[in-house]
Amino acid sequence: MDTVVSGIRSTGNLHLGNYFGALRNFLKMQRENKCFFFIADYHSLTTHPKPDDIHGNIKQVLAEYLACGIDPEIATVFVQSDVPEVTELYLLLNMNAYIGELERTTSFKEKIRKHPDNINAGLLTYPVLMAADIIIHKANHVPVGKDQEQHLEMTRRFARRFNTIYEVNYFPEPDAYNFGQELIKIPGLDGTGKMGKSEGNGIFLADPPEVIRRKVMGAVTDTGPSHPGEEPSEPVKNLFTIMKVVSDPATVKYFTEQHAAATIRYGELKKQLAEDIIRVTNPIRNRINEILADNKFLAKVVREGGQKARESASGTIRDVREIIGYKPF
Ligand code: AMP
Repeated sequence: MDTVVSGIRSTGNLHLGNYFGALRNFLKMQRENKCFFFIADYHSLTTHPKPDDIHGNIKQVLAEYLACGIDPEIATVFVQSDVPEVTELYLLLNMNAYIGELERTTSFKEKIRKHPDNINAGLLTYPVLMAADIIIHKANHVPVGKDQEQHLEMTRRFARRFNTIYEVNYFPEPDAYNFGQELIKIPGLDGTGKMGKSEGNGIFLADPPEVIRRKVMGAVTDTGPSHPGEEPSEPVKNLFTIMKVVSDPATVKYFTEQHAAATIRYGELKKQLAEDIIRVTNPIRNRINEILADNKFLAKVVREGGQKARESASGTIRDVREIIGYKPF
């Protein structure tokens, strides 16, 4: 069985894009692989060094993941800061990570442009910590989107470099998990681009029905097709893309035909779309609230997950120390 590692930032609520683009696929993945899912709370400090409520954020994201169907009985679910072994591997990998390559990372360049007042060393070495998180469990695959490709390439490079420098064949080079299907990109409600946490264009899994209705009714459209057969504009296509994942094929067919005939009423489409989104998200939202209210369950998940993750991580640290040459006196 292959090993898969996936980190989840502890800042921000999950949205429809996260669910349909990533999480829904994780449910199958966790049954076919040995999966480690962790909340990357150390990583969140690179941009939020003084968080308002780091514990609350971790709890919320954890509850949202579990509510989507991540199963702690099958997968190992844990909090990054509960596994201090990862910081040791991070330190050791840092000795063979070069300033030049870290400074050239696209995400680092972007972050320093956005936060010129907080260019810290943690931000620079973010890819090293990410590599440590992944290779400490000797992962074979990492489920990443396009945006993470460069980080994964750096992980592969750090794993390869360790093997080369210490003349071993210890760490596998992890590749991007292949879901065997085209990945879906869920667009936002603002007419352009993808749905994102910080874009203000998203529907969150924790949004109550009235909020979902308000957001969908406010989605950008156009003035409507002026003649039959007119190609839908990008904002309208985006609504159809969301509809395809949440609605019945018959509903999609009905509105597609209405658009093609130039008789479509966007108000009607949005009402239907909002109700279909609510149908999908409501059970998840109820689960999120149930899980959040059950602190005992959450405590058990992270305690048991942390233990399993530490067992795996400490085995690697033992080997790595030996490979580098540390010995007991
Ligand atoms: P993020 O919230 O950007 O950290 O992304 C977490 C996961 O959700 C990654 O696997 C992303 O590729 C995926 N994801 C984020 N936004 C979208 C979106 N709008 N459509 C599809 N997948 C997404």
